Amino acid sequence: MSSAVVTRFAPSPTGFLHIGGARTALFNWLYARGRGGKFLLRIEDTDRARSTPEATEAILTGLKWLGLDWDGDPISQFDRADRHAEVAHQMLASGHAYKCFSTQDEIEAFRESARAEGRSTLFHSPWRDAAPVTHPDAPFAIRVKAPQTGETLIRDEVQGDVRIRNDQLDDMIVLRSDGTPTYMLAVVVDDHDMGVTHVIRGDDHLNNAARQMLVYHAMGWDVPVWAHIPLIHGPDGKKLSKRHGALGVEEYQRMGYPAAAMRNYLARLGWSHGNDEFFTDAQARDWFDISGIGKAPARLDFKKLDH
Ligand code: GLU
Repeated sequence: MSSAVVTRFAPSPTGFLHIGGARTALFNWLYARGRGGKFLLRIEDTDRARSTPEATEAILTGLKWLGLDWDGDPISQFDRADRHAEVAHQMLASGHAYKCFSTQDEIEAFRESARAEGRSTLFHSPWRDAAPVTHPDAPFAIRVKAPQTGETLIRDEVQGDVRIRNDQLDDMIVLRSDGTPTYMLAVVVDDHDMGVTHVIRGDDHLNNAARQMLVYHAMGWDVPVWAHIPLIHGPDGKKLSKRHGALGVEEYQRMGYPAAAMRNYLARLGWSHGNDEFFTDAQARDWFDISGIGKAPARLDFKKLDH
């Protein structure tokens, strides 16, 4: 039902709000707002070494300047660690996950010999099928059991049907031996608990979707609609980087660009609506749809912004 749409923007606060992130936020905002839905904000601050309060502040300021208002308070992923651990233990109790006592040294040694012998370095934990009676009294990680045959199908609204061979998935760790949840678990638990119905994000996360589906399936949760959008490239067709020019949204604000022009420009990066080049906010909200997102990487062309 259209009124039930919930989208989110989930930046990692490791730097300023860059063009790519702003575009992802805008697409999610347009999609929700055009359907009377909710647009939520989650700060993915589990990486304590790289996350800073200044970056969170810069992201919020950038979103506000762009006029992308979110519903409720921003959620801190780090603050939800207990809930993430709870879900890991639920999967353990239901038999969808298991305790892995392999140490980092053992895993490294396995990988080294696999490399030397030209075998796959994908680690298969010997603990997957071990009887609990053999479990030592030692620290353990919790791993989710991945299916070992067949394939995982990601029905993506932008990329189409993407199939990943299950023998390429390892039993990913969801809770580390120090009790901290992994990013891959946190994203799924948060999206589920926040009631997210549509995950619109960069296609650098497409492979993660296959692994994240393991958790959805293990918990019996509804998988959200996936829409992985191609990353933005520079005018030369190469991955966007500093040498292409300004990348931070606040740089445009400083240069005096009107927020409305920036929104219009970002909306057109990878999304099109017929031949329309300019539209009002109301038109963008009415017209925006995932089906208008292209499969090819959008090219950033700063000249267009100067119109
Ligand atoms: N935190 C991730 C990033 O900044 C996004 C994760 C997601 O959207 O699922 O790239």
